[in-house]
Amino acid sequence: MLKRLEIVGFKSFAKKTVLDFASVTTAIVGPNGSGKSNVAEAFRFALGEQSMKSMRGKRAEDLIWGGSHSMPRANRAAVSIVFDNSHRSFKIDFDEVVIERAVFRDGTSEYSVNGSRVRLRDIEELLAGANIGETGHHIISQGEADRILITSPSERRSMIEDALGLKIYEFKKNEAQKKLTKTEENIAQVNSLRRELTPHLRFLENQVKKLERADLLRIELISLAQTYFAVEDAYLTREKLIRAREKQGAAERLASATAELSEIEKRATVDFESTKYLALVRTMEHDIERINTERATLAHDIGRVEGALAAAKEHSERIIREPYAKVPREDIIALAQEVDRQKEEANTSADALIAAISAIHKTIRSFVDRFVAPTDDLLADEERTVYTLENERTELLAKETKLSEELERTKSALARNREALTAQEETGRELHRRVFDLAQTKAREEGKVAQCEAHERGIILLSETLEREKSEVLALAGVAAVSYAPLSMWPDEERKVQEDRHHSLERMKIRLEEAGGTGEDIRHEYKEVSAREVFLGTELEDLAKSAAGLGELIRNLDVELSKHFSEGLAQVNASFNEYFALMFGGGSAQLMLEGSSDETSEEQEQPGIEIVVNLPKKKVRSLMQLSGGERALTSIALIFAMSLVNPPPFLILDETDAALDEANSRRYGDMIENLAKKSQLIVITHNRETMSRMNILYGVTMGADGISKLLSVKFEEAVQVAK
Ligand code: ATP
Repeated sequence: MLKRLEIVGFKSFAKKTVLDFASVTTAIVGPNGSGKSNVAEAFRFALGEQSMKSMRGKRAEDLIWGGSHSMPRANRAAVSIVFDNSHRSFKIDFDEVVIERAVFRDGTSEYSVNGSRVRLRDIEELLAGANIGETGHHIISQGEADRILITSPSERRSMIEDALGLKIYEFKKNEAQKKLTKTEENIAQVNSLRRELTPHLRFLENQVKKLERADLLRIELISLAQTYFAVEDAYLTREKLIRAREKQGAAERLASATAELSEIEKRATVDFESTKYLALVRTMEHDIERINTERATLAHDIGRVEGALAAAKEHSERIIREPYAKVPREDIIALAQEVDRQKEEANTSADALIAAISAIHKTIRSFVDRFVAPTDDLLADEERTVYTLENERTELLAKETKLSEELERTKSALARNREALTAQEETGRELHRRVFDLAQTKAREEGKVAQCEAHERGIILLSETLEREKSEVLALAGVAAVSYAPLSMWPDEERKVQEDRHHSLERMKIRLEEAGGTGEDIRHEYKEVSAREVFLGTELEDLAKSAAGLGELIRNLDVELSKHFSEGLAQVNASFNEYFALMFGGGSAQLMLEGSSDETSEEQEQPGIEIVVNLPKKKVRSLMQLSGGERALTSIALIFAMSLVNPPPFLILDETDAALDEANSRRYGDMIENLAKKSQLIVITHNRETMSRMNILYGVTMGADGISKLLSVKFEEAVQVAK
């Protein structure tokens, strides 16, 4: 598997030196101090050895060519090992794997695999995968063969584990452990994130609950608002109609009253007419008064004339009586009867009266002529007086008759006029009453119109308020709140019901305003935060799962490790015992797990490993009691046993055979040959027996320039060189 080693500037190999390992066994021979061990150390170095001590140095620069008179010091030491990987022992897809390490004077190292820079860790993993462990059990340094004997039980266990190829489990376990730690950190982190998130989430949850309540409230408000607006619309429309009708009625009544009033005003002559009648009545009353006065005067005159007439008549009678006393009585009675008769006839009219009077006069004349002739003269005077007086009386009576007639006429005219006046006055009073009524009607209807107008203004204000309310509700609860079907009929309800609705609506509006908007941002944030919470929850579950998986893996690895370890240990023990008996010609050797009573280390859970040997024919209590050769034999037996159970790809043995006598050198040689069947061997030796068993021999020399040089040699030359 090992193809080649290339060394540049490493320790005494100042110049580029190439070792080809074309065969299974290679021996490196040369005089003391020529640089053979440096070759073994070059291997260690390239494979990532971190201990300076195991490369016999203190600082990095001890590894770099220090310079000599012929060649100046180098700044860099580099070693590359070329492996054949056609069997894919290394888990990378190349037929050849080149592992290279370079170190600089400042102590920094660079690693690369097939030319690509990698970390030390990558190298370690790669090597562990190919059973080239880090404890270097496959490189046995000079004088270090018995390291496995003197090391601590736990270190020994580690070396054996490494040799058994169990380091890969350690790696896996460490890796799983690291992952587990990381996972646990992540779990803690996620938990802390969740804890941080929880109060905010709870806050948001509450907010969203509030918003949901506000949503319900909004739905309620929308329904209420729809009813309220529909009813209010219907109410306003109805009110408008009622008021308009009322106003129209009032206006009509007002107009008719106004028209009637102006009509009445036009007829103001009524008053004039009644004045006319009044004047007539007054005049007639005056006329009646005058007539009565005139009649009184006339009556007086008539009285006076009748008085004078009676006196004249009396006087005439006395004249007659005294001289004419002898007049027969029957004649006088006859005369009187005649006069009465004629007087009766005179009652019909004034003319009849006058005729009667003439007749009476004639009668009397004839009587007088017969009986009173002798006294005619006397009597004639008296008769003239009577006559005059009677004429006067007749005239006066005629006047009186006229006046009576005039009085009667005037009285009836007065009565008529009074009647007319009364009628006229009645009409006037009626008109006044009507005017008063109309004025009252006018005032009342004007009042009504004004009232209606005030009401209309009120309705306009209400309409404006309604519009404002609509826009407020629209802003609060969206368009649904103002989208409603108008009422098909007026709901026969009290205004109080709508007022209550309004109060409820106002209260809801306030509550909704307090809830503060639709809260889209809060809802969005809540969605995000709860999604994050869910995400964290799932992540936590995943992490827990992966932690559980890792725990399981670690446990499985532990189980596997301990299984392989105990199996491997048993196998190693068998070979160890066999080799030991072979080397010592008897006896026995065994690796034993330390007693679990080991309380020295808490970290070390696994028990360490002790070596128990029984030499033939000798009684030894501890390894320390063995001779140098015995120690070398024991450690070789163990190393070889280990190598046989889990053969490493190659084994480098630096003068492991130094302490062996001839007989043991032969046994050693046999074992090496046996070993070479499984592993490639590079042996640094001075032992002729060993050399004789090797296929390829390299000779290392060092000249005066202090530079190690390499050359291929034949067996005989090698024996020579080795001396
Ligand atoms: P032996 O047979 O006695 O074991 P060897 O062949 O194994 O000897 P090494 O121990 O490999 O010899 O080589 C030691 C030599 O390497 C010494 O001469 C030492 O001076 C030389 N050497 C070691 N380190 C450096 C260095 N950094 N620069 C130059 N030379 C060095």
